Amino acid sequence: MRTALTLVAAAILAGSGFVFSANARGVSPIAIVIHGGAGTITKADMTPAEDRAYRAELAEALQTGYAVLRQGGRAVDAVQAAIEVMELSPLFNAGRGAVFTRGGLNQLDAAIMDGATLNAGAVGAVQHVAHPIRLAYAVMTQSAHVMLVGQGAETFAWAHGFKFTPSAWFYTQRRWQAHIDGLKKLAAGSAGTPERLVSGRGWAFGTVGAVALDREGHIAAGTSTGGLTNKLDGRVGDSPIIGAGTYADDATCGASGTGTGEYFMRLDLTKSISDLMALKGWSLQKAADYMIHDRLVKLGGEDTGGVIALDAKGDIVTPFNTQGMYRGWIGADGRLTVKIYKDD
Ligand code: ASP
Repeated sequence: MRTALTLVAAAILAGSGFVFSANARGVSPIAIVIHGGAGTITKADMTPAEDRAYRAELAEALQTGYAVLRQGGRAVDAVQAAIEVMELSPLFNAGRGAVFTRGGLNQLDAAIMDGATLNAGAVGAVQHVAHPIRLAYAVMTQSAHVMLVGQGAETFAWAHGFKFTPSAWFYTQRRWQAHIDGLKKLAAGSAGTPERLVSGRGWAFGTVGAVALDREGHIAAGTSTGGLTNKLDGRVGDSPIIGAGTYADDATCGASGTGTGEYFMRLDLTKSISDLMALKGWSLQKAADYMIHDRLVKLGGEDTGGVIALDAKGDIVTPFNTQGMYRGWIGADGRLTVKIYKDD
C-alpha cells in the first residue's frame, strides 16, 4: 500500500515537472547483473549441452536474485541469493565445484558490500563452508571486522551457527583433472606466469559475482570464488578484497570482477571504477571500459578478465578482455539476457 501511494505521489510530482532523483525512496528502477567467470571460453570448446547448462544456471541465479528485488527486498539480499544459486552449482568455481590449490585443497574467498552504508564483509581461504557469501554477510553484520581468513573465519562460522561442510562436498572430477594437468605442467616447467598456472581451457573461469539495485535505490555487490587452479595454499585473490574484486557505493556504482586477481588487486579495479565516476564525472561505461580495456590490459595483457557493474539509474555494463565471460542481467525493462561468448 505504501509503495502504491509512493508511486502515485511520484507520478504526480513527475507530471508537475518536479525532478526527483532516481533513488527517491521506493521508486528506483530495479536491476541485477551477474557473472560466472571470465576466461578462455569459446563456442568451439563447449558442447551444446554444456552451453545450455551454463545458460540455465545463470538464468536461475538471475531470476532468484530478481525475485527478491521485485518483492521490494534489499539489494544485498538479492546479491546473496543469486550467488548462493551459483555456489551450489558444480559448474562454477565457487562453493561446490571450486578449483584446487597446489596442495589439493579447496580454499574459498568471498565478499559482499552494501552501497547504502559502505559496510562490507569478506572471508578468505575457508575450506568447510558451503556458502562463503553467506559467511561474508555474517562477517559484515555480526562482527566488528571487514575480513576474516582461514581458521579464524571458520571458528567465527561455527560460533554463528554455520554447518561444517566436509572437503569431499566441494570435489568435482573436472576441477581435479585441471589440478592434475596443471601440476604436470608445473613439473615440466611450462607454467607461464606465476598467475597463469594452467594455460588454456579451465585455468580459472567460474568465479561468480552479482550486483543489484533495489527499489530504494540501494546498490550492493558480491563475489565468490575458489580462486585460481593450483594457486599456492593460502593465496587470497582479489574477489574478497574490498575495492579490488568487489565494491558498491550508492553514489556511483556496484561492481564485481573476475579474472587474474593479482592484476585486479594492484589496480584496485572495482573501486577505481567508482572513483573515476565520482572524481572525474565519467559515465559507468567509460570508467569500466577504461579499467578493463586500458589499465588491465597495460598491466596484465589481454585475457586477464572482466567486470560487471551497474549504477543508480539501472545502467548495466559487462566489459571483458578475455574470449568469453559467463554473464547475464535483468535490467530496468525486466528482460532477462544471458551471454557467454564475446560475439554472443
Ligand atoms: N579473480 C579470481 C581470483 O583471482 C579468479 C577468477 O575470477 O577467475 O581469485
